[in-house]
Amino acid sequence: MRKLVREGVEDLVPYPPGKPIEELERELGISGSIKLASNENPLGPSPLAVQAIINKVSTLNRYPDGSGFYLKSKLSEKYDIPFGRIILGNGSNELIELIIRTFLSEEDHAVQAFPTFLVYEKIVRGAGGQMTSVPLSNFGVDLKGIRNAITPKTKVVFINNPNNPTGAAIEADEMLKFLKEIPEDIVVVLDEAYIEFVTDETTANGTELLDEHPFLIVLRTFSKLYGIAGLRIGYGFASEMMIDYMNRVRQPFNANTLAQVAATEALDDSAFVTRTLQVVREGLDYLYHNLDEIGLEYIPTQANFFLIKTPDGGRRIYELMLKQGVIVRAMDSYGLPDYIRICVGLPEENERFIETLKRVL
Ligand SMILES: *Cc1c(COP(=O)(O)O)cnc(C)c1O
Repeated sequence: MRKLVREGVEDLVPYPPGKPIEELERELGISGSIKLASNENPLGPSPLAVQAIINKVSTLNRYPDGSGFYLKSKLSEKYDIPFGRIILGNGSNELIELIIRTFLSEEDHAVQAFPTFLVYEKIVRGAGGQMTSVPLSNFGVDLKGIRNAITPKTKVVFINNPNNPTGAAIEADEMLKFLKEIPEDIVVVLDEAYIEFVTDETTANGTELLDEHPFLIVLRTFSKLYGIAGLRIGYGFASEMMIDYMNRVRQPFNANTLAQVAATEALDDSAFVTRTLQVVREGLDYLYHNLDEIGLEYIPTQANFFLIKTPDGGRRIYELMLKQGVIVRAMDSYGLPDYIRICVGLPEENERFIETLKRVL
């Protein structure tokens, strides 16, 4: 009998999502849990986005605007990038998939750093491609190593800046050098899901690099800073030609109506953005300070999450904390069995995390 599934699918495992709070509480019979596992915005969604959704609900009998006119116009204005160089997705995750379906043929290779976002490899291998992983160097992306891993079979390179799960950022001049040195016929996916959280001003910014490599695609999301992960909306910048090819492959209504209006309003919600950045920066200060006092090592971050080294196994700490209603992320599936990753929460959530950590240690 012939095989049911496509080549490569048997080797995949489901993405380990951070456990939803409701599910955990049902399983353990507890309440009042907190989740610091999925790098979400602890303040909730942008209030302007929420109001836009309420105003738009009565139009849900209609299909979405398949061209994403208002949201793309706003993005174009905000970033000074032509309308025709912008694409919307059902989360930036969908755009990763769309890029692979548009540009990667079966048997083509892709290159990534490791550990990084697990979705890249899942999508490449699910599409019948092969992934080469280049180990991080001191928790940062090794661009030289990635350049050296490129072969004539390589079609796509993934760079996540700052890199999930380490939070390390790449400097602008390093990134520019990399883009100039690699072959021109490689599709470079620069995933900037956390770029708005970066404080180091030397960090590369994809919107300034778009003309530095012909096949560069910059991906961004409304899931983190703007707090609307549940709506699924992300966007990408690339050349008009690449956007045109992706538009041929994408589903016509991939970005839904509520997501489009919510994102359009969220882009203007500067009060919410300011508050979010403040909560993250103050939260990081608090967490670093307390981890220093406890004497635990951590990896300083440019994002809203970071790695903590645990004395005897990240999975064990994860499980013990879970029982206390504090959801963090074990890092064994990222090849970092000693670590947990947490994201910054509200001040009271950060305090609860520290207290619980002390107890389980
Ligand atoms: C959270 C995250 C995203 C966002 O994905 P969406 O589909 O837009 O929610 C993208 N890339 C990385 C590395 C992330 O951690």
